[in-house]
Amino acid sequence: MFDKILIANRGEIAVRIIRACKELGIRTMAVYSQADSNSLHIQLADEAVCIGPGPSTESYLKIDRLISAAEIGDVEAIHPGYGFLSENAHFAEVCENCKIKFIGPPSSAIRAMGDKVAARATMRKAGVPVVPGSDGPVTDEQEAFTVVRKIGYPVIIKAAGGGGGRGMRIAHNDPALIKGLYTARSEAERAFNNPNIYIEKYIENPRHIEFQILGDNKGRIVHLGERDCSIQRRHQKLIEESPSPVMNADLRKKMGKAAIKAAEAVKYVNAGTVEFIYSEEKKEFYFIEMNTRVQVEHPVTEEVTGIDLVKEQLRIAAGEPLGYDQKDITFDRAAIECRINAEDPFNNFQPCPGKIEFMHVPGGLGVRVDKHAYSGYVIPPDYDSMIGKLICYGKDRREALDRMARALDEFVIRGIKTTVPLHQIILKDPNFRRGRYSTAFIERLLTTPQPIVPPKEQ
Ligand code: ADP
Repeated sequence: MFDKILIANRGEIAVRIIRACKELGIRTMAVYSQADSNSLHIQLADEAVCIGPGPSTESYLKIDRLISAAEIGDVEAIHPGYGFLSENAHFAEVCENCKIKFIGPPSSAIRAMGDKVAARATMRKAGVPVVPGSDGPVTDEQEAFTVVRKIGYPVIIKAAGGGGGRGMRIAHNDPALIKGLYTARSEAERAFNNPNIYIEKYIENPRHIEFQILGDNKGRIVHLGERDCSIQRRHQKLIEESPSPVMNADLRKKMGKAAIKAAEAVKYVNAGTVEFIYSEEKKEFYFIEMNTRVQVEHPVTEEVTGIDLVKEQLRIAAGEPLGYDQKDITFDRAAIECRINAEDPFNNFQPCPGKIEFMHVPGGLGVRVDKHAYSGYVIPPDYDSMIGKLICYGKDRREALDRMARALDEFVIRGIKTTVPLHQIILKDPNFRRGRYSTAFIERLLTTPQPIVPPKEQ
């Protein structure tokens, strides 16, 4: 096992990785920007080094500064967390060349999945079902019309280098398609430095169901079941749960097999997530992308399977084989995660950085809070608005949901607006309680004729 690693990240995931390292006797080196000098991960790590000013382009995304820090700290490996450089094949390659172990998949696997157009082609070849759509990038209107003639409206235009729900356009007719092509392309160029776009059939009211996989250096790959991440705002996840309310043994077997096939096709090693869109109407699932890193929502799987995913990442990166087979993995519990974001859910999810005047976190049996925020913490405006995650498990879905509802009621965060009041509403929603929801759930909830009155300030 490693003696010392560097964590090239911030926030709750840096804290999460430090915790796993402590339990494994690994020393940690944190990095931070000038905007993060009051961050909890600095306090918890064995060492911390400032790598630049607040904007991530000047700090957390600066490969040369991270590598210098790693050399000064004499670390053996780097954990990239999620976001930032975690899916940057070049960064993984630089680490490989500098003889620093990148705690994640090989750069070749990141590259193979990083371009979504190329990933679709690889999946098709491997026999994994993909959403019907274009075979390659769509370069002009004629090509777009040819694809649409084949698959029909509605369609979704997506960026080959896309991520974070950005750069997508839905089109129901020709004028919207033409407009969407140009806006999606310019947004893709600006946001991802890659103007390539492609077209998929837009599956209406689908579920987002993803599979957690783990692969070791010996070529063994297992899946750890699914997470239903259909509760989203602007194509970004807010609530994740496992098992999915629509899952059954047969479907899990089929989707799990497809997820493993997807990972095998790119010789995947370490933790990853294969994402699918599932149509309840057609009972069909389609690959949309693979995330080649640990996910925000990984605790849901940890609570269901009892497997510590970050420790597994560290063990695999250190060359240890998986100590178990698919049949050894059991799904005995239900778990749910609510993302606690510093944003106003009743005002278009406007980010609300600022000082947390007071914070009280829930506790008790089956309640886990992964966070870096605390009373008095000032949320910098430079980064993602997520300040923590509340995860609850139960013997079944009902207990997990009841526990989540009671934990949310205990949560007190003063000084900023958060997503807690929206989560409270969702947890009481009869359709959500019955497991009847799709990716359109939140938009419908927030645009119902009865305007939703936010609960009183705590
Ligand atoms: P990103 O990498 O930007 O997160 P994804 O491809 O993972 O993009 O898609 C994000 C979300 O967008 C999905 O969870 C789903 O809600 C929606 N989405 C993506 N593709 C489709 C599709 N073909 N049909 C319907 N919804 C889709």
